Amino acid sequence: MSTDPEIRDELRTSVRRWVAREVLPVVGDLERADEYPADLVAQMQAMGLFGITIPEEFGGLGLDLLAYIAVIEELAAGWMSLSGVINTHTIAASLIMREGSPEQQARWLPGLAQGAPRGCLSLSEPDAGSDTRNISCRARRDGDEYIVSGTKTWVTNGERAGIVALAARTDEGITCFILEKEPGPSFEGITVSKNIGKLGYKGIETVEMFYDEHRIGADCVLGGDAGLGHGLGFMLGALEVGRINIAARAVGVARAAFEHAIRYAQERSTFGKPIAQHQTIQNKLADMGTKLQAARLLTEHAATLKQSGARADVEAGMAKLFASEAAFEIATEAMRIHGGVGYTTEFPIERYYRDAPLMIIGEGTNEIQRLVIARGLLQRYAV
Ligand SMILES: Cc1cc2nc3c(=O)[nH]c(=O)nc-3n(C[C@H](O)[C@H](O)[C@H](O)COP(=O)(O)OP(=O)(O)OC[C@H]3O[C@@H](n4cnc5c(N)ncnc54)[C@H](O)[C@@H]3O)c2cc1C
Repeated sequence: MSTDPEIRDELRTSVRRWVAREVLPVVGDLERADEYPADLVAQMQAMGLFGITIPEEFGGLGLDLLAYIAVIEELAAGWMSLSGVINTHTIAASLIMREGSPEQQARWLPGLAQGAPRGCLSLSEPDAGSDTRNISCRARRDGDEYIVSGTKTWVTNGERAGIVALAARTDEGITCFILEKEPGPSFEGITVSKNIGKLGYKGIETVEMFYDEHRIGADCVLGGDAGLGHGLGFMLGALEVGRINIAARAVGVARAAFEHAIRYAQERSTFGKPIAQHQTIQNKLADMGTKLQAARLLTEHAATLKQSGARADVEAGMAKLFASEAAFEIATEAMRIHGGVGYTTEFPIERYYRDAPLMIIGEGTNEIQRLVIARGLLQRYAV
């Protein structure tokens, strides 16, 4: 069901005001300290942002993906890491909304809607990032339980999450488990074996997790017994929401970089006039503004299609591919327009420049997006 555009706009405006009031004054310090933004996350919880797309019957806001991407854009324009706190949480919730049995939905969605517990997605492994069919983490059946063994990596939110949407190999193929744990560096047979240092995307943890014969109930198989062996398909479907999220974050980062650049270009003078009056700078601004607008429209189109229930792999891939490359180019051009100060930590441009590449790599690299897009186009235009 689509959300009234007025409600979407109200939500966007209130998140934009919150970002201006609460995030922008502290983001520089949090970024430099690589500090988890506990206070901000608590406020996001109070605003209901962990349950934007979760139906009201489970305590969520029950809004559509267009409302979701509006919020993600606003958060990312303030600090991209905040949108990452919500992303894999929302993917885990989407998996349960889409594929969970009624009992599983009643068991997990009310908590996820409140952001307590928080969710994360654990698909990637050291030897299986793009090549997800190659995962080796195993879950072997033992009566009413499964015993999980293996190493997962790149788990964003993994340490603080209480729900893990985990891909593991069972006799039937790749299966998705919804695993419950206590937040923290270790819980029963699960250990956070490494906190991965990153170029950007600071403040939010991305970790390696080791499963040492960890036991979970057979009732944690997503979709029940019928879901056995279908986990990869479930996850790839939910990753369309993840790719739309990445596109929306890229729009947020690109917008922030563009707005800084167009303001600075009018304030900074060289050779007797504002640099915005030099044609070379105008060309840059024109290209940046055009790419930003195109990225936003592609993202909105993908969200609209996915919301309708239609398959959106091609459109989500196009939005993610274009918006992330645009964000990287716009951040780079914003740095050029700022000259030397763009390279300093006095301005946020260097942060946009460090954050942008994640959108090129995360949720499936852009090389993989091109494969997905081309495959879909060839099917549509088959001769
Ligand atoms: C900060 C961060 C957070 C992340 N968070 C999560 C998370 O929460 N959960 C999760 O499950 N994963 C997460 N990931 C993992 C992410 O999805 C993978 O890093 C990504 O899919 C790429 O996998 P890889 O790193 O193994 O690269 P590889 O698969 O090793 O790829 C290396 C290079 O080869 C290219 N390549 C690979 N195969 C092909 C092909 N067939 N054709 C053309 N080119 C190809 C790739 O595009 C890339 O350029 C995260 C990653 C990062 C960096």
